[in-house]
Amino acid sequence: MSLQREYMVGRKPFRTLKPRHKTLMSNTLTLPDSTWPELQPGWVWLCGAGPGDPGLLTLHALNALRQADVVIYDALVQDCILEWAPQAEHIYAGKRGGKPSAKQRDISLHLVELAQAGKRVLRLKGGDPFVFGRGGEEAQTLVQHGVPIRIIPGISAGIGGLAYAGVPVTHRDVNQSVTFVTGHDQSGETPSSLNWQAIAQGSQVIVIYMGMKHVDRIANALLDAGRPTDEPCAVVCSATTNDQKVLESTLGALAKDIDDSGLEPPAILCIGRSVLMRQVLDWQGMIAGDAPRDLDPLGRGRPAESA
Ligand code: SAH
Repeated sequence: MSLQREYMVGRKPFRTLKPRHKTLMSNTLTLPDSTWPELQPGWVWLCGAGPGDPGLLTLHALNALRQADVVIYDALVQDCILEWAPQAEHIYAGKRGGKPSAKQRDISLHLVELAQAGKRVLRLKGGDPFVFGRGGEEAQTLVQHGVPIRIIPGISAGIGGLAYAGVPVTHRDVNQSVTFVTGHDQSGETPSSLNWQAIAQGSQVIVIYMGMKHVDRIANALLDAGRPTDEPCAVVCSATTNDQKVLESTLGALAKDIDDSGLEPPAILCIGRSVLMRQVLDWQGMIAGDAPRDLDPLGRGRPAESA
């Protein structure tokens, strides 16, 4: 994607991409018969784009992409998804290529500005807009400025990304709860508000967003709180994209294994025995011709369908 121009909103640069005007295969996709909402001028729809694979977009997202005048999108939104809105101006509001990241306040106010200028605005965010995505803040700013909104949920990386790696985020034989955690807070540090001891003791499965930077600290906190060193862990990088990579490890070795692997964010970390299920559910591996490694990785000793 080539950079067309830069301009300033507030004090921070937003990069703008020139709209594309080629004919796209996706335009032949027909939305099923239903009453689809109209994205009206002056409105902002906050929409989840899912974790990467464009097939994981919702129909509401497709409906929105078709109507938008402007799509303002984050770093984790795949380029091919933007191509589904060839009529729209595409504005990048994330961090990529070493450019300074847009400040949250500037993004929110930019959305207000675009809406007040009478645009049909689609705010497209990776995964689900309300899961560690600051969608709540943006939506609140819009409402505070009198801008009408609609929220379109998306598949969050912590669920869909794990599913693409063959890890069920819940499994009856493993967990009756799951905890979603962010690995760093606004300052970039491990969130001080998190009680790792309580999480370690209370949640059989822990799914960590943005956990790569502080994986060492996080793993140690969980180990200190009594989680076993041999607890299964998975790291799913660029989940659901063509670059998806999965690392299996254990809690004791996780930080070093990540280091040795050279894996890079974005990544979801999953800690818990549900990771073992990958041995039978690595469906992408199976499509590629691998045999399941173990048909009963949890050692149930009886068929999966039995009670
Ligand atoms: N709203 C998003 C999360 C945004 S926070 C959602 O619901 O998925 C950004 C973090 O999400 C990344 O640092 C990473 O931990 C995770 N993430 C998003 N997309 C991902 C992907 N395709 N693969 C792995 N992790 C991903």
